[in-house]
Amino acid sequence: MAIDDVKTIPTAQLASYSLNGVAFDGKSSQEYPCSLKISGYARAARFKILLDSNSPDSNAPNSNPPDTNKTIKNPKAFPRRQAHLLHHNTADISLTLNDSWKFVPADYEELMQADQALHLRLFKSSFPLESVLGWSLLMLGIIAGFIYLLAFQIAPILAPQIAKTIPDSTISKLSAQGFQLFNQQHLKPSQLPTAEQQRLEQLFRQSLPGQSSADQSSIGSQQSLKIYFRHSKSLGANAFALPGGELIFTDALIQLADNDAELIAVFLHEYGHLKYNHTLIQILQNTILLSGFYFALGDINTFSATLLDIGPATLIWLKYSQNFETQADAYAIKQLQANGIGLNHFENILIKLETANTMSAEEPQDINNTATTRLPSLFITHPVTHKRLEALRESEN
Ligand SMILES: [Zn+2]
Repeated sequence: MAIDDVKTIPTAQLASYSLNGVAFDGKSSQEYPCSLKISGYARAARFKILLDSNSPDSNAPNSNPPDTNKTIKNPKAFPRRQAHLLHHNTADISLTLNDSWKFVPADYEELMQADQALHLRLFKSSFPLESVLGWSLLMLGIIAGFIYLLAFQIAPILAPQIAKTIPDSTISKLSAQGFQLFNQQHLKPSQLPTAEQQRLEQLFRQSLPGQSSADQSSIGSQQSLKIYFRHSKSLGANAFALPGGELIFTDALIQLADNDAELIAVFLHEYGHLKYNHTLIQILQNTILLSGFYFALGDINTFSATLLDIGPATLIWLKYSQNFETQADAYAIKQLQANGIGLNHFENILIKLETANTMSAEEPQDINNTATTRLPSLFITHPVTHKRLEALRESEN
């Protein structure tokens, strides 16, 4: 040991430790009862195997009679850098001291005490940081991959199937609670005259297929169409559907339109979302981890309760996937054509909505109303308007 090391280390830490155990020479399976003497400090520590007098080595060849004071024969000494801990669990712990010699302590606690007192760092080096980090990163990667797979590959396939199993009563409750949240946070009674509201509702219903039959208002499964008009400062010119069949138009959207045909186009697009059950499926897709949980449990009541806990709040920020928007647009296009309404009206209202929403986003925020700090996009979602217009123009030709 270097003289300098001794000077700088407190004397208490220079104590040597003697541990009982057995040693193996690495050449045979012979166990040598021994003690391990550890002296010195940190990297300057030294390990010495002192074989007991009754060890095979010390008995042979001429230890007759046995030594009474356990005279140690053939001590083996090793520097710290040759010592490595093999550590599987507390019952299986050993110290390799060079390529051949190995020491197994009788009491693992004693080795830990010596390790701490002499700063040997035997236990730290037995779990290299890199390997722990490597495994953690690998596990993170696997988990991320699984979540990606679940969210983008499995969820879109699974959600429509799960949607079919949700009872109508749950959908109605989900929708009613969502509507209540919208009413509290974003909606006020419409300022449109009642007669105008009724006229528009009739116009919208007449644009649907089979308007003369009694089932004109039936959508998808059992949900029926309900049309509402509301005033909303925070939502601006907007329209949106709720999974129970509620379709909400804001006064600003009615005012933005130049004619009824433009409003019918928006109505048919939103009706498309209802017809294909997009709202419920999108909520399920967003909460697919819970949906998977429900599948594992197979308990519809548990899942319904969970859905009712989190579903209404997710409705406000719900964004349809691009596929759903395209499907709703396709439905609106087909139905506009069936009504003999030019697709230019759909184009016009989309352009006006995009302009109106871009402008309202640039207005200074009303700091007293947190609801306006971030607007739900609702009707204006992706695909971005110019892509939708391109698709519309292709349909016209
Ligand atoms: Zn849409």
